Amino acid sequence: MSTQRITVAKGDGIGPEIMDATLAIILASGAKIEIDEVEIGEKVYLAGNMAGIAKESWDIIRKNKIFLKAPITTPQGGGYKSLNVTTRKFLGLYSNVRPCMSLHPYVKTKHPIMDIVMIRENEEDLYAGIEHQQTDEVVQCLKLISRPGCEKIVRYAFEYAKNYNRKKVTCFTKDNIMKQSDGLFHQVFDEIAKEYPEIENEHWIIDIGAAKMADTPEVFDVIVTLNLYGDVLSDVAAQIAGSVGLAGSANIGEECAMFEAIHGSAPRRAGQNMANPSGLLQGAIMMLKHIGETTAAQNIQNAWLKTIEDGIHTYDIYKEGVSKEKVGTAEFAKAIIANLGKLPTMLKPVTFAKDAVLNLPKYVRKPAAKKDLMGVDIFVHWSGTNPNELAAKVQKLDNENVHLTMITNRGIKVWPEGFEETFCTDHWRCRFKPFEGKSITKNDIIQLLSTALNIGVDAIKTENLYNFDGKAGFSLGQGQ
Ligand code: NAD
Repeated sequence: MSTQRITVAKGDGIGPEIMDATLAIILASGAKIEIDEVEIGEKVYLAGNMAGIAKESWDIIRKNKIFLKAPITTPQGGGYKSLNVTTRKFLGLYSNVRPCMSLHPYVKTKHPIMDIVMIRENEEDLYAGIEHQQTDEVVQCLKLISRPGCEKIVRYAFEYAKNYNRKKVTCFTKDNIMKQSDGLFHQVFDEIAKEYPEIENEHWIIDIGAAKMADTPEVFDVIVTLNLYGDVLSDVAAQIAGSVGLAGSANIGEECAMFEAIHGSAPRRAGQNMANPSGLLQGAIMMLKHIGETTAAQNIQNAWLKTIEDGIHTYDIYKEGVSKEKVGTAEFAKAIIANLGKLPTMLKPVTFAKDAVLNLPKYVRKPAAKKDLMGVDIFVHWSGTNPNELAAKVQKLDNENVHLTMITNRGIKVWPEGFEETFCTDHWRCRFKPFEGKSITKNDIIQLLSTALNIGVDAIKTENLYNFDGKAGFSLGQGQ
């Protein structure tokens, strides 16, 4: 097997200590890697680089394609960009994988038999960061969900389950409310699940699913979900498994991959040889599996389990009566190195399949659907309170083809036949549709907006309403 060059960044705070410990273990395992080091984080930010990383470092990361990253400190305030978010997006790292396993009875947990892998979509959803203030009272954040985004992450989850001998994939969405966006994720999940009949699949509405996970995590195996839900739930899963300090994560793309601990740079613990390197080590083990160094990954994982089981613990998991010896970062690493080649006796040893190759075909765009314009929503900034008054004003926009059919406020229908009790902001959606027997064109939309301008209706944005192959691509107003 050829030697793999990887890029390493030691980061800030406890970063350098836990990275040195992790690299010492990897090198002692016999894994064939060579290292290029780059500088990222606080020093780079404070030198005036708002991204926290120099262009030359990007070149090295892109050339090597495999990036092992220690946590960094993002300076407070002042427009500094999160390097994690930038890295995920720039390198197309669409899949975030976070195993959360309890180490009962050696690490305190309420869930002794928990063993979940959280797989979170990493690029889209509300994290596209497209936000606008539209009226005095209302701001908007766009939730973007794409078919390629859904297909890639859901397929990744099933491929992961297949290759790592997992029995079930659970999908979490809120598609009872977000029928279009979360609905697409759920639909793609159902489509792809059919290709993996040997793996059980199920869907939970996220709220009750999250409650169930926090209460009875042992009923879950692999969980796949959208970006925001996954962000929140993967921290919950890591914490209830034992400690966020023990979990690592992999960020996987079609070309590149980044591996890290899930915790931050813990500045208060820096330079004291106290920090637990386990989170970063877990990230590194996933990296070794990813580059085909399966034997090294397996040996390190088993040596780590044995060290934990031997009661050799850093301060964060040290517990009187369970732990045998409180050690520093470097000593913990030495203990793991001494255990290489040994198996745990109480905790379950791991076996990683040698041929664990995930089959992840490139996304293939489907033929375009037949797209029919069915209407338009014109959003209006208006400071009045009576929707009937607004309707009378906006009805003046009607032309021979289209007319006002509905007004909603924050999604709730307020005209026609709204409730007086409904609280209204200054942000109104006015829906125009064709008269019976007529159709709407983009010229009608231009005419509507032009009339709005002429009569002083403050149109702040429009959304076209389309049917795709005859199926509505827009939601109804609540109460419609
Ligand atoms: P943190 O994760 O650094 O620390 C939270 C708590 O956990 C602290 O009490 C800390 O001492 C403890 N802790 C964390 N890792 C530990 C370890 N390996 N061993 C022992 N104890 C550990 O979170 P924070 O204090 O909110 O953030 C500190 C800095 O880290 C901030 O600048 C933040 O922006 C940054 N951060 C970076 C990343 C990253 O680079 N991936 C992630 C999260 C936070």
